[in-house]
Amino acid sequence: MYYGSGNYEAFLRPRKPKDVDKKSAYIVGSGLASLSAACFLVRDGQMKGEKIHVLEKDPIPGGACDGYEYKQVGYVMRGGREMDNHFEVMWDLLRDIPSIETEGVSVLDEYYWLNKEDPNFSLMRATKERGKDGETNGKFGLSDKAAKQIMKLFFTTDEDLYNKKITDIFDDEVLNSNFWLYWRTMFAFENWHSALEMKLYLKRYIHHVGGLPDFKALRFTRYNQYESMILPMIKYLEEHNVDFVYDCHVTDVRFEIKGDKKLAKKLVYKSKEGEKTIDLTEDDLLFITNGGCVENSTMGSQNEVAPFKPELKEGGGWDLWKRIAAQDKSFGNPEKFCYDPEQTNWMSATVTTLDDKITPYIQKICKRDPHSGHVVTGGIVTVRDSSWLLSWTFNRQPQFRTQKDNELVGWIYGLFTDKKGDYIKKTMRECTGKEICMEWLYHMGVPEDEIEELATNSANTVPVMMPYITAFFMPREKGDRPLVVPEGSVNFAFLGQFAETPRDTIFTTEYSMRTGMEAVYTLLDVERAVPEVWGSTYDIRDLLHSSYALRDGKKITDMELSFIEKFALNKAISKTRGTDLEKLLKKYKLID
Ligand SMILES: Cc1cc2nc3c(=O)[nH]c(=O)nc-3n(C[C@H](O)[C@H](O)[C@H](O)COP(=O)(O)OP(=O)(O)OC[C@H]3O[C@@H](n4cnc5c(N)ncnc54)[C@H](O)[C@@H]3O)c2cc1C
Repeated sequence: MYYGSGNYEAFLRPRKPKDVDKKSAYIVGSGLASLSAACFLVRDGQMKGEKIHVLEKDPIPGGACDGYEYKQVGYVMRGGREMDNHFEVMWDLLRDIPSIETEGVSVLDEYYWLNKEDPNFSLMRATKERGKDGETNGKFGLSDKAAKQIMKLFFTTDEDLYNKKITDIFDDEVLNSNFWLYWRTMFAFENWHSALEMKLYLKRYIHHVGGLPDFKALRFTRYNQYESMILPMIKYLEEHNVDFVYDCHVTDVRFEIKGDKKLAKKLVYKSKEGEKTIDLTEDDLLFITNGGCVENSTMGSQNEVAPFKPELKEGGGWDLWKRIAAQDKSFGNPEKFCYDPEQTNWMSATVTTLDDKITPYIQKICKRDPHSGHVVTGGIVTVRDSSWLLSWTFNRQPQFRTQKDNELVGWIYGLFTDKKGDYIKKTMRECTGKEICMEWLYHMGVPEDEIEELATNSANTVPVMMPYITAFFMPREKGDRPLVVPEGSVNFAFLGQFAETPRDTIFTTEYSMRTGMEAVYTLLDVERAVPEVWGSTYDIRDLLHSSYALRDGKKITDMELSFIEKFALNKAISKTRGTDLEKLLKKYKLID
């Protein structure tokens, strides 16, 4: 497997890999990583679908990428996926996955046209004091000291960030800024999370920094991501006769390790038919999604709490990874991520409005008609003075194909589930859907004497607790996540958020899909480059623009510097005079 960029190999159809007709594949899990692996096996590996078996413990596919209507409970989407134009692997694949909406077009075409016609941006990024403008005013509000801390992180080596927390790198200069408000709520970072991942994010999305205050950097699918992404991939795979086995818990994988050679030998699973074992040979490729951000997630309802149940059980992603990791050092260190769910949980709630009584409050804040079918909030709105640090969003409606015309389906989430609310004097995790809705309505500015009535009769709210949702953000070091294909592996690979691939950032659809592509391309030796992570971090234009944007448009010459630093800066600038570098610095408004 090797990386490439540009279009020389992008349009290439690889030749059939050697011996692929002798091989078969077993894929543990049916999340985006697994589905992508299956698609790449079919499209580029040219493996027959009949020889690909997807083993999923849940009754439906999709894993973390969800969006369903549960009978008697209502609509639920645990998340809303913010996406990017530079999800290189995703678009490499989705250009070949037919849309299930429109005949003859791909999922990529559909997504591109939608976002071209109706670009995403927010007209209100944050509120305070019960529905008033949060007055972030499109600014990052970083002091020069804070900007220097960010710049220092950007250039710190990965090794120096192993096992460090964000608070080891940033102090209140950064943590009290709008920058941190945008960042932590958009990406769900907590202050105690990994400084290394924070750095990787900064580098990965440096081209989007200017678009953070109003989300013009983001793109979204037409419906929830289960309907817009998972269903078309499933249809494509089913049409290629890929075998899906649901309610199938893989409980163990046994490896034979002889010298440098590592072979997956046995797969143990429990399904409706009881416990079974599959003996694997060198020609049986095994793809394992290890760990999982929605493992142990629970659902409540309008009148029920979503219980916090972090105990790990046999047949789940964490238990499986622990059993695997016990067999070889190169299979990672799951404990590092799952040892303390208090540091990795948060909750979301899906709210469905049932009539038009709540709509004016949404409209007043987002400044758009929520029923127009176009962008509504344009990304999350953060309630900056909420004790739970609530954020909420309504994407283009309908979010579900079955939704009624008068309904709006939106998403609320809170980063601090152990804090008491500002209106509901309970922690978020102690609240029913209705109570979470009441806390939200309070922050939307609904008069207090109307809050309960609206939450009871004008909305249905379903909470979800996810004890391990940010497990991947826990501080880590090299080796804590296994490589996608560990050294010496003959027939197996790891997939998803807890497999290691360089430069890309976790908690993204792209990361999962990338691991799927890299795994297939390595194990089958596919003769085509995997598109490298977008290289904006090496592009001086993006670096200059982000320097300008992060400092809210101030020139570098206006930076607070010591006498010696100022002298050095002026000398460096004088050396650019009359060169292309001077032109660039001027173009990006960093000098006069
Ligand atoms: C709330 C939320 C918000 C998000 N926001 C964004 C966003 O804004 N932008 C973005 O790009 N991405 C976002 N994501 C991330 C994205 O959705 C995930 O990264 C991606 O869907 C994960 O896919 P995966 O295949 O790696 O893992 P998963 O989806 O977790 O899939 C793993 C699958 O394996 C199955 N499994 C686990 N153990 C076993 C076993 N032992 N036997 C059989 N099956 C097993 C699980 O049931 C699951 O189906 C968000 C996710 C969530 C939950």
